[in-house]
Parts: sequence; C-alpha cells; structure tokens
Amino acid sequence: MNQQTINVPQPKPQMRSWILLLCLIAAASLTCRKAVERPGAAPNLQQEKWRAGVASAVITPEQSMWMAGYAARTKPSEGKVHDLRAKVLALEDDRGTRLVIVTVDLIGIPRPLRDWLERQVYRHHKLPPESLLLNASHTHCGPVIRETKYSIYGNSFYGLSPEQIQRSEQYVEALQEKLLQLIGQAVEKLTPSLLSYSHARAGFAMNRRLETEQGYRIRPNPDGPVDHDVPVLRVDSPDGELRAVLFAYACHNTTLSFYKFCGDYAGFAQQYIEEAHPGTTALFVAGCGGDQNPYPRGGERSLEYCQHHGRALANAVEAALLWRARPIRGPIRSVLETVTLDFAGPPSRRQLQQQAESDDKYDRRHAQVLLEELEQTGKIRITYPYLVQVVQFGNDMTIVALAGEVVVDYSLRLKAELAGPPSAGMIGASAAGPPVWVAGYSNDVFGYVPSLRILQEGGYEGGGAMRYTNLPGPWAPSIEKRIVDKVHKLVNKARAPLETRQ
Ligand SMILES: [Zn+2]
Repeated sequence: MNQQTINVPQPKPQMRSWILLLCLIAAASLTCRKAVERPGAAPNLQQEKWRAGVASAVITPEQSMWMAGYAARTKPSEGKVHDLRAKVLALEDDRGTRLVIVTVDLIGIPRPLRDWLERQVYRHHKLPPESLLLNASHTHCGPVIRETKYSIYGNSFYGLSPEQIQRSEQYVEALQEKLLQLIGQAVEKLTPSLLSYSHARAGFAMNRRLETEQGYRIRPNPDGPVDHDVPVLRVDSPDGELRAVLFAYACHNTTLSFYKFCGDYAGFAQQYIEEAHPGTTALFVAGCGGDQNPYPRGGERSLEYCQHHGRALANAVEAALLWRARPIRGPIRSVLETVTLDFAGPPSRRQLQQQAESDDKYDRRHAQVLLEELEQTGKIRITYPYLVQVVQFGNDMTIVALAGEVVVDYSLRLKAELAGPPSAGMIGASAAGPPVWVAGYSNDVFGYVPSLRILQEGGYEGGGAMRYTNLPGPWAPSIEKRIVDKVHKLVNKARAPLETRQ
C-alpha cells in the first residue's frame, strides 16, 4: 500500500496541538502506571526454566575462639551479637547445568578448604570445580580460620596458644563438613524458579587510602575511587514468591573491632532482608572492597554504626527489589582457571635474618616464616597460582569472581571493559547492557590484590599488608595485566557459542 491510495483527512494546526497534548497525557499516565505496577513483583516475562535451591546454617563457634582480622587483639571472643551463617544457593538451568554459590560470614576462604570441598562436591554431587563459587563476607568479628594445619610451616601470625590453634583446626574441620552438607541440602531442594537482576546503590563505603607526608595511610578519603553499586540477583517461585536474594557490596566488613562474634554490616543487612521477607534467604557477596572501609566505624558507637550500614545496604536491596528486574536466562557457563602471578622477587636470606631481629613483632614473624620456608624447601616461592572464575548466564549477566582482597580498581575497570551493548527493545535502566558483577574474596582469600596504581603508590594494600601473610611480597608490576587478561580470556570462553567452546 502506498500513500497515494489513502486519503486521510489532515487535522488543522490547532487540533493537531490538542491531539499532541492528549497523546502526551496518555503516554505519561501509561509510564506512571508502569512505574507503580506491582512493586517488588517478579518479572512477568517468558523465561527459560530454572531450578533453584537454598540452604542456610549457623556457623558461630560453640566455644570461645581467637578472632580473625585484627592482629592487635589480646584475648579470645566473648559471646556474640548474632549468629554467623553459611548459605548456599544452588541453580540449575534447563539443560541440567548447575552452579553452587556458597557465602560465609567469615574472614575468608582458605585455599585448602576450597580444594577439599571441590573434591567432595565432585564425589558426592558430580559438580565440577568451575561450578562451585565460594565467597566470604570478610567480617573481622569471626573466628580465626587460617591458623590451622593449613598454615604453611606452622607459623602463628596471631601468636596463638597450641590450644587456640587446635580449636581453630577443629572449627575448620567441622565447617567444611557443614558446608558439604549444606550444598547437598540446597541441591536436594532444587525447585522451579525464576531468576532476575536489578541493582541500586549504597553510599557508606569510602576509599580508605589517603596520601599523607608519610605515604599512603588507612584513613577516610572521600575523593578516592569507590564502587557503590549493589547488584541483586533475585530468585522467585513461578508464582512470584521471593525465595532468595543474592546481593553484593564492595566494602571491607570492618565497622566493628570488638570481641563478640558478628557478621558486621553484611550480617545485619542479611538479617534485615530476611526479617522483611519471611521465608527468603539473603546471601551477601563481598565485592572488590580491598581498599574500601565502611565509615564511620570503630569506637564506642561501632555497633550502632554497623547496624546503620546494614540498614543502608538492606534498604538498597529493597530499592533494587522495587524496580522491574531484568529476566536472567540460561544457559549457565562457568569457567575456573588459575593464572600465575609473580612476586617482585624474594628477599635474600641475609635480609630475612636482619628482619628477624626487628623490634616489630609482625616483621619478625614474617621473616621467621619465610626463613622456615627457605630451610624446608631450599627456596622461597616466587609465584602464586591465582584463581579466576567467570560465570555467564546466557546473554544476560556475567559474574567475575576473583580471589583475594581485590581493590576497587578491578571492579571499575572490568565492568567498563566487559559491558555488553545496550539491550534492544528495553527502556530506562533496563536498556543498559547485560550486567557485569565483579566479586572479590572468592575461592581463596590469601592477602591483598592491588592494581598497578596501588602497587606503585605503596601503603597497606600496595604491599605493606604482606607482613601479615606467609607470602614474600610485594607483587610484581605485571599483577593487574595478568589478572585482567585472564578475566577477558575466560569471559570470551564463557560467552562463546556453545558449539565453538573447547
Ligand atoms: Zn581485609
């Protein structure tokens, strides 16, 4: 049909403005209705079928234990504010491919614990290593879990008594069995579900690297880089019941520094979300908050600050739940590989012997552990096998899970570099490209992972914190490039069409 065959009467100019006005009013009312439509409802869109299962367990130590995070503590724990928890979200796409996400209110994930769990979940559930993602909230009000048989060369960084070390070992042994059981429970409970993504923001994380005349110090730096994004993966039943909320924030979980067990702000955020949505499991994922602190923090009012931060984060999740979430479709494609990171070069025996005489007990211990390594193996390690994991959800979302205490530069850079093209046919925030979610503190938490910028600037995250580990440090300048290149390689693999995957 062409225009010449139709004789449509054209409205007069005055009438035309009326029609335009009516059209605008109609459009505005439609938009308003859209904005208030079923707030918090699951996306009412055709999706591929998922199955999801969740499980949660208390992992608070049953007895007093030495607490992790602050080397300056002088006594073991004295009670609790609330329970520490481990939680599991198991997902299965319509091809039967699974992803199991485990979150814990603990300082970190010791690599040997991951290795053990990896073997067991393969044995019991045929779950391959790339399908297991572990993340720790990095609360500094949990038990010490590093000073166990897993501590290389038996060095005790916290200067624990043999009895305290034994308690820590027993705790970790019980923990790993509990995590295995929890994974089994979540897998058993797999039921039809819908997955969707939305996000919001929370502002209490502040950059904590301030340049001073004495170099970079841990102080609030309101002008430093931050990542205030709060990504949220929601799991709903097919009839719209909220089952689980997986959410993240890039900030140290260090409002508190006292002697009671507590999940810090992340623990409170999970508690508040679960209280507001009975029957829902809230799982916190630590982002790239290696150089971020929650402010204000510490002091006599620290518990109050902590609850406020928890509320702020829970509110951000609630805000994200209001928005019409983007449907997340499968299939799941997970990739897990190691990339070799280099240290700048080990100190000589002579340097270490000098350091072992230091007045500073942490320098002394660091030198002693490296000297012990030298004695036992004839050398000091010069590389580290760094774990990088990528999980791709169809064309809809990418999760990058990085090991160690990753600084915010990585999440800002990777999100910018990996962002996909805007989604066709979507409007507003939904038109943004498929989300890229970058987690730190995943699978192996061994120490800080600075960007090249921070490595060169120095300070605590740049290399100073290495003295609290059994690693030689600092890292070689290649660290950022090695990690970012590996992430790109794995993302390309995970995003490649199935038939071309190797
Ligand atoms: Zn830390």
